[in-house]
Amino acid sequence: MAALEHGRNGWPAALDTFGVNLLWHPSLSEATGDEATAAFNRIFAGHTPLHALVVEGAVLRGPNGSGRFNMLGGTGRSMLNWIVGLAPLADYVVAVGSCAAFGGVPAAPPNPTDASGLQYLDTAPGGVLDATFRSRKGLPVVNIAGCAPHPAWIMETLAALALGKLAAADLDFYGRPKFYADHLAHHGCARNEFYEFKASAESLSERGCMMEHLGCKATQAVGDCNQRAWNGGGSCTHGGFACIACTSPGFETAQNYLETAKFAGIPVGLPLDMPKAWFVALAALSKSATPRRVRANAAADHVVIPPAGGGGKRRI
Ligand code: SF4
Repeated sequence: MAALEHGRNGWPAALDTFGVNLLWHPSLSEATGDEATAAFNRIFAGHTPLHALVVEGAVLRGPNGSGRFNMLGGTGRSMLNWIVGLAPLADYVVAVGSCAAFGGVPAAPPNPTDASGLQYLDTAPGGVLDATFRSRKGLPVVNIAGCAPHPAWIMETLAALALGKLAAADLDFYGRPKFYADHLAHHGCARNEFYEFKASAESLSERGCMMEHLGCKATQAVGDCNQRAWNGGGSCTHGGFACIACTSPGFETAQNYLETAKFAGIPVGLPLDMPKAWFVALAALSKSATPRRVRANAAADHVVIPPAGGGGKRRI
């Protein structure tokens, strides 16, 4: 949980750029115990404005709704209790990560701790906060879903909120900022040529598309992960691992992340906006027209047949 105040110089520098003051963070702040409690009490007393309440991690509501499975050390109160108390005082409430947004891995069945997201439990509206909850500026919980969410998604969201540039219309149906949720993780994947020809990898480390056999769900998952490189150059699929749709509620219940669930030989999860009959017909057509180069390279861990540019004739 982090508390942000707008309009004062503060730390760290990335937030400072947008005039955001980090009031308290459990790892980044020196304040702890009584000092942290005093900071919260200044908010409750109305002495410190709370621009944004930012929560990371699922909230444990058990046992029996007490929240005592997860106490905020030194305060004698549960995280559940603090969040429910602070949320109505915040201009904006932000869930960072799919656990805070939807419950995520801690909320997977049988969910013994009664873990929940802030305003969703899986796909069901209503979690720690009621489905009708709106923060002081009129927004539902802003869900920066992802496991982990891209750091730039977090910074851009906080910057947009600080600048008053994020409205309800800028959020998708699960409260995710559209600047990244209006994309599919599939967009920009370096394996797109293999996807178009349904030239599939059958084993990890092969270069082909991972949708047909290796569980890739990027055609069904929102995110600009393949357009906005991680750590300056990567993404899950770029690193040879299938997209597990970590920005979607319920991703944690998959039986096998590296195996495509199929029915009658057809992947169960098809591209979001494509009717099944179209996909089957296009896949058959694509496979019948797959160039030898693409088919061979899809099943290899390096390029075995390069493009035949210039007719393949040496120029010098
Ligand atoms: S591996 Fe996944 S993201 Fe890449 S092209 Fe295939 S379906 Fe799309």
